[in-house]
Amino acid sequence: MSKEKKSGIMLNATNKLKNEMGRHFLAIEQAYRDGKPTAWATAGTPVELLYAMDVQAMMPENSATISAALKQSKKFIEIAEDQGYSYDLCSYFKTSIGAVSSKAEMSVGGTRKPAFMMSSDVICDTHVRWFQIQAERLNVPHFTLDIPHVVSNTSNRQREYFKKYIKEQLWELLDFITEVTGHEYNEEKAREVASNSYELGKIWQDVFELRKNVPSPISTRDTFGGLFPLFTMPGLKSPIKLYKRMYKEAKARVDAGVGALENEEFRLMWEGIPFWYNLKFFSNLERWNAMIVYEPYVYAFSKYTNPNITKDDVLNHPVESMAELVLSFWYIYDLETRVKKFKETIKEWKIDGVLLHNNMSCRPNSCGQYDLKRSLMEELDIPSLIITSDMNDPRKLNETQVINQIESFIEILRQRKKQ
Ligand code: SF4
Repeated sequence: MSKEKKSGIMLNATNKLKNEMGRHFLAIEQAYRDGKPTAWATAGTPVELLYAMDVQAMMPENSATISAALKQSKKFIEIAEDQGYSYDLCSYFKTSIGAVSSKAEMSVGGTRKPAFMMSSDVICDTHVRWFQIQAERLNVPHFTLDIPHVVSNTSNRQREYFKKYIKEQLWELLDFITEVTGHEYNEEKAREVASNSYELGKIWQDVFELRKNVPSPISTRDTFGGLFPLFTMPGLKSPIKLYKRMYKEAKARVDAGVGALENEEFRLMWEGIPFWYNLKFFSNLERWNAMIVYEPYVYAFSKYTNPNITKDDVLNHPVESMAELVLSFWYIYDLETRVKKFKETIKEWKIDGVLLHNNMSCRPNSCGQYDLKRSLMEELDIPSLIITSDMNDPRKLNETQVINQIESFIEILRQRKKQ
């Protein structure tokens, strides 16, 4: 453990993430070589059903984050803007448009032409429009799932109707996949995939549980990157091993009383998508002995957050349980539920302050932040700082300004601790 006392240190297991990503891209290459069908999917769709139908999934959003991490996203975004897409549109979308138009390699965020595309409006309308445009350009079939949103006055009867409506669409999706690929739905395979997906999500939640400890054994260095398999590989076995390793290592730190940060003073929550082109930015927090111990965005993709969905439901009704999962997705909560969830999380993870990313690309993600900030202060006496930037467009991050804002925010937290 002595070595681990260095500040901000990453788990060794997280370093293995690169292998997992490599495995995913190799599987895509292999699928093309073997003539196996491939599909693009947007975040929040039941990717598990693709794996259950023996279709190789590809996630252009993830590819866009790779472009950003490799400092290529600005170039792709500008290509899309040259094609007429506005400066204000989602930078994932524009990165993908630019990367695909310029036939970029997968290693820098390109995404190959799939057999078909699957999107949904569960998180945003951009997803649907994005795939409509790309499906037309690439001339491939596109299936979109229409997901109603549960709001504060949605009754149980309406919710049940929503679920039925989504279930019908999921069965239609499976018929569509059969039509495009010739692959038939196999219940046994669907159960296996659902079981793996459930296990993956639950271990991720267990990792988050460990972060309730003071000091927290892991920081965003592990969680932002660790998110990748939840998006791209839910239902596969291999990422489960990686998450188990992460858990084991983090648990050993907890048992030894060792944190990821040597002198943890301030525990923060980060709401929103990080700056993928500048993940190093988050190490700035360490100089003030501050660390992020919870990210709702990262947690949300563990999917199985609704306690009413049991492992038996998932195993016995793999398709139907997907309908419940999309309805329970964190990011479609109404403001009232969102505030309630934030308040519970702040208490359980012993959070001192909240950083809210007002993401210029992502209005659905940023909407309601001023109400959220006010509620957390008035009802919980927890301060928040709203930071305006963008997850994939480096032109929209004013690093010096944001660092100054955070420094002042930490000073406020420090003064409050002294009182
Ligand atoms: S960043 Fe926001 S707007 Fe863009 S695809 Fe994701 S959820 Fe949609």
